[in-house]
Amino acid sequence: MTHAIQDWREERSQHLANARTVLVKVGSAVVSGSHGLDGEVLGNLARQFALLRNGGDASRRVILVSSGAVSAGRAVLAERNMPSDAVGLAQRQAVAAVGQGRLILAWDEACGRHGMTTAQVLLTRDDLRARSRFLHVRNTFAELLDRGILPVVNENDTVSVEELRFGDNDCLASLLVNLCNADLFVNMTSASGVLAADPGTSPGAPVMECIEDVGALDIAGLCGSKTLSGTGGMHSKLMAARRAAQIGVPTLILPGREPDVLSTVLAGAAEGGKLPGTWVRPAAHAIPRRKFWMAYQTDPAGVVSVDEGAANALLHKGGSLLPGGVRQVEGNFQQGALVRIVHEGGNLGVGLSNYTAAQLRRIMGLKRHQVAAILGDAQYPEVVHRDNMLLDAAI
Ligand code: GLU
Repeated sequence: MTHAIQDWREERSQHLANARTVLVKVGSAVVSGSHGLDGEVLGNLARQFALLRNGGDASRRVILVSSGAVSAGRAVLAERNMPSDAVGLAQRQAVAAVGQGRLILAWDEACGRHGMTTAQVLLTRDDLRARSRFLHVRNTFAELLDRGILPVVNENDTVSVEELRFGDNDCLASLLVNLCNADLFVNMTSASGVLAADPGTSPGAPVMECIEDVGALDIAGLCGSKTLSGTGGMHSKLMAARRAAQIGVPTLILPGREPDVLSTVLAGAAEGGKLPGTWVRPAAHAIPRRKFWMAYQTDPAGVVSVDEGAANALLHKGGSLLPGGVRQVEGNFQQGALVRIVHEGGNLGVGLSNYTAAQLRRIMGLKRHQVAAILGDAQYPEVVHRDNMLLDAAI
């Protein structure tokens, strides 16, 4: 049965029944109430994780990414009449350091009541950037999951400086979907699901039950441009879902504060009826895992603008990017850096540059023999080789 004609409800029920490794992300607004962490919500979520782990023919592996350190920290400090502002970077880091202990304690207690043992994993983006460190982190997750332990992950806010940040936990979660080989991504949010139009301009827009092709979705238009610069929000959830879809993993975006919502979906999916939240279908053709890691492990260090001919070769002919097609270079990147490839302001994709920014500025627009005359013979013919490029990157 081809992807196009397979009914998404049937696909959803199959995925939910067969998923073996599930990555669940819960947002700050889900776990926090008006006075810090909401014990009732955490307790209910823990119960659902226990059911999720024990469901199906064999027990499932669950990885939890939980936000809430900053909001828990604020509540602790306010309780003790201490300053609780978390506006600048250092303030945020300090408040997160106060709150992370509370957050993990709350999860450990809530999960312990259902017989689950938790482990705290705090990551910075740098931990996943070098392939060897990525593999070490992956081994640690495998060991925890083999022992039946529930990893509770958050960004290591206390030491994450701006350039090493994931930016938000949706981004972190999407990278862990790849690292942990998850086959289902559940993103629990304070919203009821993905709305069919920007609520800023179309109040009352209904929740979309399914997103067929998240790669083709106008995410900025749907979420309103305001959310583009902020962290969190539906924009970052859809970008994370798009990444997961690229490696063939579906995303379920659920209203996380609704009691038993995940259990309801798991129980109801087989009947194929209307369920809470939004189902984001996986892409029909998954990209290689190495390309995923290459494209998303770090933010692009520069921008390479290409001409019409090069854009055409990349998009329609399966070509690599050659020096002759480069028109402009922004940034000061090194050889091997990840760069954004654009044409007339629109993103084409990302890839690893064989040249430094300074070299590229000297050879852009030139033919191979002209490049050799400037930089010598032993040069790469391509600026970015096709194998080191991901078109349509969700960045
Ligand atoms: N790491 C932050 C926290 O725990 C949250 C980041 C996010 O939700 O995107 O407070």
